[in-house]
Amino acid sequence: MTRPLLMIPGPIEFSEDVLAAMAQPTASHVDPAFIAIFGQALTDLRAVFLADDSYQPLILAGSGTLAMDTAAANLVEGGDRVLVVDTGYFSQRMAAICRRYGGIVDLLSAPPGDTISADQVAAQLPQAAYALVAVTHVDTSTGVLTDVAGISAAAKAAGALVIVDGVCAAAGEEMRQQAWGADVYFTASQKAIGVPPGLALLLASPAALGKWRARRTPVASYYSDWAEWLPIMAAYEGRRPAYFATPAVNLIVALGVSLRRILAEGMDDVFARHRLLGDAVKAGIAALGLGQVPTQPTHAAHTLTCPRYPAGVDASLLAHVRAAGAILAGGLHPAIRNDYFRIGHMGAVTANDVLATLAALERGLRRAGYPVEPGLALAAAQGVMVGGA
Ligand SMILES: *Cc1c(COP(=O)(O)O)cnc(C)c1O
Repeated sequence: MTRPLLMIPGPIEFSEDVLAAMAQPTASHVDPAFIAIFGQALTDLRAVFLADDSYQPLILAGSGTLAMDTAAANLVEGGDRVLVVDTGYFSQRMAAICRRYGGIVDLLSAPPGDTISADQVAAQLPQAAYALVAVTHVDTSTGVLTDVAGISAAAKAAGALVIVDGVCAAAGEEMRQQAWGADVYFTASQKAIGVPPGLALLLASPAALGKWRARRTPVASYYSDWAEWLPIMAAYEGRRPAYFATPAVNLIVALGVSLRRILAEGMDDVFARHRLLGDAVKAGIAALGLGQVPTQPTHAAHTLTCPRYPAGVDASLLAHVRAAGAILAGGLHPAIRNDYFRIGHMGAVTANDVLATLAALERGLRRAGYPVEPGLALAAAQGVMVGGA
């Protein structure tokens, strides 16, 4: 019998208290107990993203793509120049969404596995009157981490607002939204936030709200329009009933549990745990002789790892690893899709999960015909974890 671990870059393994919260009878969306839970979740989202009360949280029923769509629908106006820092699949999606709302998009594109530096962004910004810069914090298709602090500072200096796709990063990768000057940071419930799929979570700065308020044209998306949602979010935080569109009640109850869990650990410790476990996985992969998609360890994410298949091994490896106890993801970036696979390690992930996953990978590689000395990856990962403890 196998009880495989779900180690992909979302959805992830969810903790039992979160799943138990999901299973409670569904409350009315205006039940005072639910209003209190929703209101607290909004407040807690600010604490997780590290911003103060001047930042506006939004919790919407939808996936991460809705969070991207909501940010663009409200902030992009016809003719706005948008600079998209392109590190892979989801940056390209953001570019497409910004174009859909009338943005004139320029891409600053990195080859798969490379990042774009703050200096490269600073050099591009004088080329046009950019209203917005969009960045993917961790690109899920390459495992590349961008320098959100540096890029945000460069954008601020040029008078542009910054939208950061944190879907594969938030509550895992270090992020200090207010201190770093990111105007909109967003994620989805099923990644490091640790709740089953179905919620889009955003936090908008006063400057982002200012750009939205100064719009000359209505927001083209009816469902995403902040004009509808801001009074609803304000009502829930003020513990008053309100209705625009039915919130995902069970998911929000589960979100409340997960956000409390994250804040109880403390954001610095959450970031440090992801760094340590991410480094442990990468050390294990290196010990097996596998390369990785990010071209430098300095811009490799800590929430997922993107190993390259060794010579003679292809995507059929993943079925062997699954049989050995861990579900991993295949490649996603179109240019290198068949060359690599992806291991997610975010959210409530533990050292034991990481070791079990590397052990399953070792056995899967042997099944796929790649000679592995059992324990090699485990020893390397343990070395990192012992050193970091
Ligand atoms: C997963 C992901 C998305 C899309 O989220 P969905 O919930 O699948 O719509 C967007 N951006 C990044 C960086 C992601 O990892």
